[in-house]
Amino acid sequence: MKRIDKAYINGEFVTLHGNDVFDLINPSNHQKIAEVVLGTEQDTIAAIAAAKAAFKTFSKTTVEERIAILERLKAEVSKRQEDLIEVMIQEYGGTRKFCEMSMQFTVSAFDSTIATLRSYDFQRIAGETLVQMTPVGVVGIITPWNASNSFICGKFATAIAAGCTVVVKPSEMSASQTEILLECFHAADLPKGLFNLVNGLGSTVGATITAHPAIAKISFTGSTITGKLIAKGAVDSMKRVTLELGGKSPNIILEDADLEKVIPMAVFGAYMNSGQACVAPTRLLVPKSKLAEVNAIAKAAAAQVQVGLPTDTASHVGPMVSEKQYERVQRYIQLGLDEGAELLAGGLGKPEGLEDGNFVKATIFTGVNNAMRIAQEEIFGPVLSIIPFEDEDDAIAIANDTNYGLAAYISSGDEERALRVAAQIDAGRVNINGFKHDPLAPFGGFKQSGIGREYGTYGLEAYLEPKAILI
Ligand code: NDP
Repeated sequence: MKRIDKAYINGEFVTLHGNDVFDLINPSNHQKIAEVVLGTEQDTIAAIAAAKAAFKTFSKTTVEERIAILERLKAEVSKRQEDLIEVMIQEYGGTRKFCEMSMQFTVSAFDSTIATLRSYDFQRIAGETLVQMTPVGVVGIITPWNASNSFICGKFATAIAAGCTVVVKPSEMSASQTEILLECFHAADLPKGLFNLVNGLGSTVGATITAHPAIAKISFTGSTITGKLIAKGAVDSMKRVTLELGGKSPNIILEDADLEKVIPMAVFGAYMNSGQACVAPTRLLVPKSKLAEVNAIAKAAAAQVQVGLPTDTASHVGPMVSEKQYERVQRYIQLGLDEGAELLAGGLGKPEGLEDGNFVKATIFTGVNNAMRIAQEEIFGPVLSIIPFEDEDDAIAIANDTNYGLAAYISSGDEERALRVAAQIDAGRVNINGFKHDPLAPFGGFKQSGIGREYGTYGLEAYLEPKAILI
């Protein structure tokens, strides 16, 4: 049985001190793939020390030197794309389509960071004062399992651009993917101590990073509940935080939209990454007068959704990452039934023939009231809630009636109108008439969806401190 027992510290693969192991289970068939040794506080402190020592020199590197590193990283990660995709399918259960797309994002993070860096002015004048944008220090990067490689590469690339060194705590559930990524990074011949990584639990490795005074900033993606714990812990040493947290994103269909076109898109969109996506449009807001028509189209669309083995290119929805996540989604489906929502498609239990893995039926509830828990809480599975609204103002009120504010989607035959509505939505990203991604546009949430922004200039500045020099 494969055993992953190495951390990456100061440019070397070193054996972790931990005795505890975590089993890596294939979510499609519950077979054990490998086990990962869980790092300790001692391992984490060693990684932080290496990053701290390396910061002294790395923070003084030139833009050209940083670009050269980013280019080497891109080249090495690109070489292993196929391996990374295969392992992601096996370990995480992402569909082949999703894993291929995620891999493209992963690689393109280096390009977009290089583009940002080339045009960024680290020195400028404010009033009569010279302002230097200086690297914040050692960055702690804590990531979840739902697009592990993409999160690690995106955050690390930004840190390099800023002149920061890093200590990464990935999800231990992604350890096989992380192992390949580490081989790529090692092959990229990085300055020693620039990148350090320790597998382990959030309560040990993550908590040590959060508490350690040598960490100047934390960049975290994950649940809102953990984000709050990190923010509370970080404040003791006044760490900067970028928190990319959960979402319950509204997808507003105005009555002038082409329902035959946008409703199937909305259904498939809600199931992106098997529903395990922070930006998934899980609340479908539709005109009350068109609810019956929407229900019919949505039901037909759900019948087209293939829940299946992630290795199968035809599958749209794969298994949930873990049995715990499967149980969580089942609890929410039961809750929807208990709350009196009408089940339009899917429901409890596993689809026929897929009993061996963590597969959930592609589920739609309709006639949902926005006050219901299934409309307010992030489920992180293939469960869509259709919520009727009276008019445009009501749609905006329902869209904003949530603790979250990560993303929103608007469909309308009138782009000016959609823009008017977008201006009134409390969300970090609003997509009009489709699902687009721009790696240079700021990404992050309003309200409890997070603090700060990632990507492009906004993301880079979150790793920099302005220093005003008055002469
Ligand atoms: P968590 O927020 O619990 O975990 C994310 C990362 O934080 C993991 O590496 C985790 O480690 C780590 N962590 C956990 N506790 C601490 C701590 N006290 N200090 C520092 N780091 C910590 O998310 P889960 O992976 O458990 O997923 C649960 C829910 O979170 C999902 O159902 C979904 O709602 C949401 N989520 C949102 C994501 C998003 O993209 N916005 C991504 C993933 C999840 P460990 O794995 O050891 O717990």
